[in-house]
Amino acid sequence: MRTQAQDRLRRGHRCGALVLACAWFLIACSASAQPPDGDPFPLPAGVVSGEWALHGRGFAEQRYSPLEQIHTGNVAQLGLAWTFDDFVVRGRTHRGTQATPLMRDGVLYFTGPWSVVYAVDAESGAVRWIHDPQVDGAWARHACCDAVNRGVALWKDMVYVATLDGWLVALDARTGERRWRVDTLVDRSRSYTITGAPRLAGGNIVIGNGGAEMGVRGYVSAYDAASGRLAWRFYTVPGAGPDEHPEVGTARKSWSPRARWDLGGGGTVWDSMTYDPELDLLYVGVGNGGPWPVWVRNAGERPDNLFLSSILAIEARSGRLAWYYQTTPADSWDYTATQNMILADLRIGGRLRKVLMQAPKNGFFYVLDRASGELLAAEKYTQVTWAERIDRQTGRPVVSESALYAAAPRTVWPSTAGGHNWQPMAYSPQRGWVYIPTLEMPMTFSTQQGAVPYLPGANNVGALAAPPPERVQRSVLKAWDPVAGRIVWQSAPLPWWGGGVLTTAGGLVLQGSADGVLTAYDAASGRVLKKIETGLAIMAPPMSYEIAGRQYIAVLAGLGGAMNGRFHAGFAALEYRNHERLFVFALGGRAVDLPPRLDKVPQRPLATGLPADADTVALGRQRYLQFCARCHAPRSVPNGYPDLWNLPPALYAAFDSIVLGGAMSYAGMAGFADVLTPQDTLAIRAFIVADQQEMRRNPSAKPPEQGTGH
Ligand code: CA
Repeated sequence: MRTQAQDRLRRGHRCGALVLACAWFLIACSASAQPPDGDPFPLPAGVVSGEWALHGRGFAEQRYSPLEQIHTGNVAQLGLAWTFDDFVVRGRTHRGTQATPLMRDGVLYFTGPWSVVYAVDAESGAVRWIHDPQVDGAWARHACCDAVNRGVALWKDMVYVATLDGWLVALDARTGERRWRVDTLVDRSRSYTITGAPRLAGGNIVIGNGGAEMGVRGYVSAYDAASGRLAWRFYTVPGAGPDEHPEVGTARKSWSPRARWDLGGGGTVWDSMTYDPELDLLYVGVGNGGPWPVWVRNAGERPDNLFLSSILAIEARSGRLAWYYQTTPADSWDYTATQNMILADLRIGGRLRKVLMQAPKNGFFYVLDRASGELLAAEKYTQVTWAERIDRQTGRPVVSESALYAAAPRTVWPSTAGGHNWQPMAYSPQRGWVYIPTLEMPMTFSTQQGAVPYLPGANNVGALAAPPPERVQRSVLKAWDPVAGRIVWQSAPLPWWGGGVLTTAGGLVLQGSADGVLTAYDAASGRVLKKIETGLAIMAPPMSYEIAGRQYIAVLAGLGGAMNGRFHAGFAALEYRNHERLFVFALGGRAVDLPPRLDKVPQRPLATGLPADADTVALGRQRYLQFCARCHAPRSVPNGYPDLWNLPPALYAAFDSIVLGGAMSYAGMAGFADVLTPQDTLAIRAFIVADQQEMRRNPSAKPPEQGTGH
């Protein structure tokens, strides 16, 4: 399965690892502290156990807190210690929160919408500083899934944030003043965005980007943490030009020479990276193909298309590939392998193995040897129909022919949202189990008919995907035994799109959900021990820290991201005003004050004087689905964006200055004059009015719908 070049890479890597392992031994002996908490690696210099200074707390990103003041016996007394809600909001659209707050030296560092960084006193909530990187509001058009951000990195006296519009920014941790910033985008004419948290690896700060649905070519870049100088850049897929580094040549062998390079190829690194400081390997989770169907990317062929949907092990200092494992060869279902990766040392078959664990979108839970890339286990953690199983000998999936939708629509499990998305899972070394926020929904895929041109700033997926009617659509928290490859316990069904997970030495698993509830489970049994109503969807993962002998649990709340386009059944945002908020809980805290209830918006009169002929309405429908529906849901379906089916008359009058002229671009509504004409915008309004009339005549008619990606 691997090429000779791969084998050479692997041999070279082993020598390097040996030298590093020796150096590691000396460091480990000079530092007295043995990792107390199951994480295989010590914390960074100067970081103490009660802090949470890296994205997943330790380098292994287990999201396990060794704190045990809050435990199964007293979590019922958990309440609100303090809260923060002074977020930067542009216009009236709330974008939600996805970040893991970091805590060091008594300060919490977190991000909100528009890549804004907040530093607040971790004991009182008093603001130390706020840094607004002044993201270009028009850049929201390039984002598949809203102007969200998943957090900062800390190193020495610096804080790093990567912005929606592609900058990596280093800030002074004490003042929030900018030390340096670099442009991480190789092509600003393409729809690259950053929502992920930068990672610290081998003296570098590493960051990828998103945009695989929008026609980009994926890559990850490493910058010297002190100076911001580019250390290396690794492209995950080939492009139209010459190979930038040897691994691109390796990947190119698995693409057709007739591939649609103009559509980018995808393979974006939009979220997960994990660093093993002992092996000096950076693990990079690579996203789906762009466009989605491999037969559209490659003109009827089905080659593997490396390194789509793969886990890459990259030497953090050199940027060279040590090994790779492709979870979904020839990906055609938006099955990213960008989900969070956890490192642990597990006893498997009588041997202690250094493993990497991931539950990517495709529904299989993978356990890999993180030194060699050897596949140790791959079992289904949710319903999966695209593949029967993973062949342990070849490491390849046995793909179901019934999942291939080149000729006819096919319904496949999991959906494009995956069996698990960006909301991080957590690992408890106490129990040896992983707690996965799973998603359960099928999706019906069909290939886009006719030509698939590249459309700047629009979806370029080459397919349609929509959930089948009468669908299952829910989240379930599952405790997973990675050695046995089976579910140990699972939660009652939760509303769609549950939150990320924290587990603690107090025997707890904590997870928020879209209905606004933070739930504490007994990590051993799954028994619900405490529910806290907040009235705000919780997507972000909780974290925990200790100051002055008191343990806190912090979590960001507020709906946004991919769910801002449509609120699903059970969402708190259907009942309460949705806004961003940080909650910090401790024992003996108070009850949460719920947000105000939603106001009822009166139905405004229909706009008049618009054309009503069938051609104009059809053009408007097509343009709406292509350019508007990604954010603005039809027919007043509740969502986070302005309701085009109930606009105030003044906004109808100003339609062209907004849609073509970009009058509201600061708030995230970019101008579309490069792809839409005044005739198009007139047609869009004509379609909306025609559909409003249709709704009144026939309220049960099926609304226009387009597929979604994440
Ligand atoms: Ca995707």
